[in-house]
Amino acid sequence: LYDALIAPQSRHSGPLLLLADGREVSGSGFVTLVHGFAAGLTALGLKPGDRLAVQIEKSAEALALYGAALAAGIVFLPLNTAYTAEEIAYFVEDSGAALLIGDPAKAEALAPIAARFGAKFATLDGAGRGSFADLAAKQGADFTPVPRSRDDLAAILYTSGTTGRSKGAMLTQANLLENAEVLVREWRFTAEDRLLHMLPIFHTHGLFVASNVVLLSGGSMIFLPGFKVEQALAWLPQATTMMGVPTYYTRLLAEPRFDRDLTAHLRLFTSGSAPLLAETHRLFEERTGHRILERYGMTETNMSTSNPYDGERRAGTVGFPLPGVELRITDPETGAELPTGTPGMIEVRGHNVFKGYWQMPEKTREELRENGFFITGDIGVIDAEGYVSIIGRQKDLIISGGYNIYPKEIELLLDEAPGVLESAVIGVPHPDFGEAVVAVFVAAPGEAPDPQALAAGLAPRLARFKQPKRYEIVAALPRNTMGKVQKNLLRDTYRGLFAD
Ligand code: ATP
Ligand code: MG
Repeated sequence: LYDALIAPQSRHSGPLLLLADGREVSGSGFVTLVHGFAAGLTALGLKPGDRLAVQIEKSAEALALYGAALAAGIVFLPLNTAYTAEEIAYFVEDSGAALLIGDPAKAEALAPIAARFGAKFATLDGAGRGSFADLAAKQGADFTPVPRSRDDLAAILYTSGTTGRSKGAMLTQANLLENAEVLVREWRFTAEDRLLHMLPIFHTHGLFVASNVVLLSGGSMIFLPGFKVEQALAWLPQATTMMGVPTYYTRLLAEPRFDRDLTAHLRLFTSGSAPLLAETHRLFEERTGHRILERYGMTETNMSTSNPYDGERRAGTVGFPLPGVELRITDPETGAELPTGTPGMIEVRGHNVFKGYWQMPEKTREELRENGFFITGDIGVIDAEGYVSIIGRQKDLIISGGYNIYPKEIELLLDEAPGVLESAVIGVPHPDFGEAVVAVFVAAPGEAPDPQALAAGLAPRLARFKQPKRYEIVAALPRNTMGKVQKNLLRDTYRGLFAD
């Protein structure tokens, strides 16, 4: 990965990173930073295979730490910047990290945690004690990269924790390199590209999809700390491509200044990490003339499917398996392969599939079959033309009165109901049915839809057992940083709804 992603940057002409404050980082400037950090890691005693945990705000330095880990053969372990110190404690302990690098503002809380688990601690910035940047600067930029083989671990990336405790996915050099190579080809990335990069880089989407693809193709990135509508509007004129989660697109569409003039020169918009509503896809095309390219991936598999660059990008689907990736649908109970058109468990095999969960051999055996297929936990279906659609997570499946109910079927109808902005359908414990269907929804601006009217609207379109027993209005659905609805939080909130 170092040879493919980092070393070539020294020959990069023009800026590699354009930062929010107007600063630019050249390719050779980036390599200098990487080498200094790599030397700093080595000076602190880290050896190839050791884990480096990093919880710092998105910045050129944060990306350079990733590069430094690749250069020094150290396993990179990026952590969500929203995690509290106690949450970080779990990751430091679980990973056995040798070093934790944190933001200076959090140093007081993080340093004792590192100490508790025998890890070193450093801050990146701020002169003085423990500043890793100072140490790295002292080492100079002479660093000889450590050679790695395909099967060596490049990173341990913890899953988003949407369905339970985060698990550390072990990703190899080959997993990440081959997936980036495929994406560069499929999405036609070249050195001419400038990606509007607003995604966090502690997650697979922003780090292993967005950043790797640009580093490999020799292009550049507008590297913003996060998503802000104003900033996006201001930088779009300089971008050729944009990658986002669905909420970025709905928020841009809410802005009248986001129009054809602002987007005509871009060649590609992609969406992932959460389902893109067909309605958003349609509105986006209406407003800009672009069809968003939706794709499907996860921490454990990098990118598995993509809508075609040239062919039809079909709304509501995540397209076809990428080259080198096999995808099949199986019966969640028996594991038997199901015929085309039948919904079931999505299983994925190929260069992109991780090596297993860190220190969870049992969980790994449960989810990673001996024949190489990974059981994703997502329910989906393949249509006659081969397009894959995601129906939802198996853990969100509702079993009511013995019937299996996929929330998405009900959500799609509710999202179209008058006065409803968006909805999430969950199963809530019920004394008679086991679980009862509950619809949680957000009203469209200025509207106050009446539950009875909603129920009357759904009645002719849904079998009785699928009809929500209750409609609960909320101001907003709980979402994590990747825009995923946190159904576990909703289930907790409404747990007692039918208690007798
Ligand atoms: P955890 O595994 O800890 O519960 P998580 O599954 O949310 O968290 P990630 O690996 O970040 O962690 O997310 C991958 C999941 O995101 C997929 O399994 C799928 O459910 C969802 N996802 C990704 N892309 C799409 C998409 N285009 N449409 C629908 N769902 C998607
Ligand atoms: Mg998951």
